Amino acid sequence: MGFQDQTVMVTGGSRGIGKAVCKAFALQGANVAFSYSGSSQAAEETARELREYGGKVLAVKSDVSKMEECQTFFEEAATLGGRIDVLVCNAGITKDTLLLRMSEEDFEKVLDVNLKGTFHCLKLASKIMLKQRYGRVINMASIVGLRGNPGQLNYAASKAGVIGMTKSMAKELARKNITVNAVAPGMIDTSMSAKMTDSAKKEMLGRIPCGRMGKPEDVAAAVLFFASPEAGYITGQVLCVDGGMAV
Ligand code: NAP
Repeated sequence: MGFQDQTVMVTGGSRGIGKAVCKAFALQGANVAFSYSGSSQAAEETARELREYGGKVLAVKSDVSKMEECQTFFEEAATLGGRIDVLVCNAGITKDTLLLRMSEEDFEKVLDVNLKGTFHCLKLASKIMLKQRYGRVINMASIVGLRGNPGQLNYAASKAGVIGMTKSMAKELARKNITVNAVAPGMIDTSMSAKMTDSAKKEMLGRIPCGRMGKPEDVAAAVLFFASPEAGYITGQVLCVDGGMAV
């Protein structure tokens, strides 16, 4: 699964799952452009670590919920060699609370980043990938988008939307040698899951057949598989990386 000289774009690559994805590609020889929205220090640290693998690395401050900023991210990534072989739409946020307490603002913010942000990047990438007649797109969904979860109505809606977009784009672009798949992580050990209360964590852990939380690297391995030439006949799929939680 070598990615030598391929250009890989990852949204939200400065921390957590996105960072593990960037590292996995950089280790396989890819040039990596990743975005982040605010944590410049974490982004610089990640970029420094990635450069140690020898490829070209770009860290771009770009809020996925804003189309103009996504355009800048794509323009900068183009300087790595002109191609975009792989796009990983990973950036995501939560604003959890029960429906009765959920404000319209918290609903819209999560949809803007998770769903609209993915739409922006898919639109920009499809133009480039159609010209190349090659592309691998991997969207970060969640088992919450398949199963729902109390307190996460906004997040569940956004991730169910991401799955719908994945399947639609897969059908639109399959004949052009572009595959589009989604990874649906369960409970992964990052700062996002660290926000959960201890009791919610304990309850969730009890529902994981593997008996442990996932690692960002577990998710990165699935992303790499979908991005590989070997996965060229797989499109429109959702792969749960959840220790058996959704079974
Ligand atoms: P995380 O540790 O909170 O990292 C989120 C990343 O996204 C950071 O790099 C962050 O950069 C970036 N980001 C946030 N808002 C952004 C925006 N508007 N524009 C661009 N970048 C933005 O989260 P994670 O746990 O790694 O989650 C990554 C993805 O996996 C998300 O889509 C999440 O929904 C999904 N997921 C996670 C879990 C889990 O248990 N952790 C489970 C299922 C699915 P800044 O720090 O600069 O904001």
